[in-house]
Amino acid sequence: MTSIDTHTASPASGRAAARVYPDVRHWIGGQFVAGGPRFLDVLNPATGDVLSRVPLGGAPEVDQAVAAARRALPGWEATPIKERVQVFYRYKALLERHLTELGALVTEEHGKVRPDAEAEILKAIELTEFACSLPQIAVGEVMEVSRGVECRLERHPLGVVASINPFNFPSMVPHWSFPNAIALGNTFVLKPSEQVPLSAGRIAELLREAGLPDGVFNVVHGGREAAEAILDHPGIEAVSFVGSTPVAKEVYRRGSAALKRVLALGGAKNHVIVMPDADPEMAAGGVLAAMSGCTGQRCMAASVMVAVSATDHIVDRLAAQARTMVVGRDVGPVISRQAKERIERAIGEAEQAGATVLVDGRNAVVPGKEGGFYVGPTVIDHVRPDMRIAQEEVFGPVLAIVRTRSLDEALEVENASPFGNAASIFTESGGLARHTMERASAGMVGVNVGVPVPREPFPFGGWNESKFGVGDITGRGAIEFWSKAKKITTKWNREAGTTWMSK
Ligand code: NAD
Repeated sequence: MTSIDTHTASPASGRAAARVYPDVRHWIGGQFVAGGPRFLDVLNPATGDVLSRVPLGGAPEVDQAVAAARRALPGWEATPIKERVQVFYRYKALLERHLTELGALVTEEHGKVRPDAEAEILKAIELTEFACSLPQIAVGEVMEVSRGVECRLERHPLGVVASINPFNFPSMVPHWSFPNAIALGNTFVLKPSEQVPLSAGRIAELLREAGLPDGVFNVVHGGREAAEAILDHPGIEAVSFVGSTPVAKEVYRRGSAALKRVLALGGAKNHVIVMPDADPEMAAGGVLAAMSGCTGQRCMAASVMVAVSATDHIVDRLAAQARTMVVGRDVGPVISRQAKERIERAIGEAEQAGATVLVDGRNAVVPGKEGGFYVGPTVIDHVRPDMRIAQEEVFGPVLAIVRTRSLDEALEVENASPFGNAASIFTESGGLARHTMERASAGMVGVNVGVPVPREPFPFGGWNESKFGVGDITGRGAIEFWSKAKKITTKWNREAGTTWMSK
């Protein structure tokens, strides 16, 4: 989805005067390292103003970061896990102390409104908390398998590992990977999205303040070239990726071809089924929050509401509530001018195909922020399942309403989607909810919950074209992904253990 307009700017570039921050720098071996010569402007989506410039790194910077991570590895992997997680206890306290500042930075570079930005930091704190718990749950196993013969399973780090991140959660999504990976003894290279590179620098500073040794956590900035250098690098053992489905497929193929472990999370088209017996307030409010939160730029956003049978009263209530939302206050901008244009084109196309635009967020302007990339909440009714807006990820505050006569018909619509991140149902009937829990083709299912993100320790991960690779990215899934198991069989008693298996 990323579309970038690169330029080679000199330090004397006239645009520099308007920048809020100095050039973004890589973080390698425990210090900031200037990048260049190619840079990309980082914009504040709320105003269109230039915040900074991000260097577009590639193979040389990835090489440096891997070398630093490799140097840090022996000391870090030899540190007992109970000591390693002490860093994350201190880091968690720092995230709490800097919550307001970190939320403000996310708002500035990404555009999401402050409550959404602070929720993102709170989730980063929860993810860090899980990493702190790893010594309690990643303890290995031991069993007497024959008389006097013992089998034990130990977890070992993989080595140098990396993650490639999307723009929509500058802080939370990196926290899906690095706290667990590092707590398990790996050293790490993070590639943030080139569209939102600012939060990563603060994360690096806070990790250092928490006592993480130099080189354990490194940041290389850039776009596709930096990502490909990570995927091709022979010194990197595993890569987690989060982004759009077409890129997730490429990343999975390229990383696997280089014989790495890869977990690649892709895009989504999440269906929320609304039954006529649903609590109207809960359903209308829940679906609206799920479609408009983070300006619809989240892989868990509700983008299709399947309204079953007599649900006009809920649709009317939802549309009325959407009209009261204030753009710029309740809904932030989308990430870029290109994203705004793409989303507005998708709405126009649906209208031309015969759908009814009940609430129209096109051409939204926020007074005083005329250069911002705003799209208001948009509700489109009578969308047919074969329309593009019902099938493709829009990634904006746009809800397509598909009407069906029955729950089974609604589930057919949901099942036909190639994606499979999340699905939800709003109903007062336990039987219908249970039916949906069984039939929905999605990795995360909600009942009267519009955004069914599992909270720790339950792992996050979709199905179908929303995820490529084995396991989930957080929770217990992370233990499997970021470590390898060593199985050891021992016998010390000469007389014991002579069975068909143990001689
Ligand atoms: P994107 O796919 O454009 O970019 C993601 C990352 O990949 C960026 O760091 C980018 O620099 C890099 N990249 C771009 N092209 C590449 C290529 N050809 N090879 C290797 N790397 C490449 O995604 P985005 O626009 O930043 O993020 C939005 C997308 O992410 C949406 O589709 C959204 O649904 C998805 N997403 C999914 C989840 C999930 O859990 N499934 C979570 C968050 C976001």
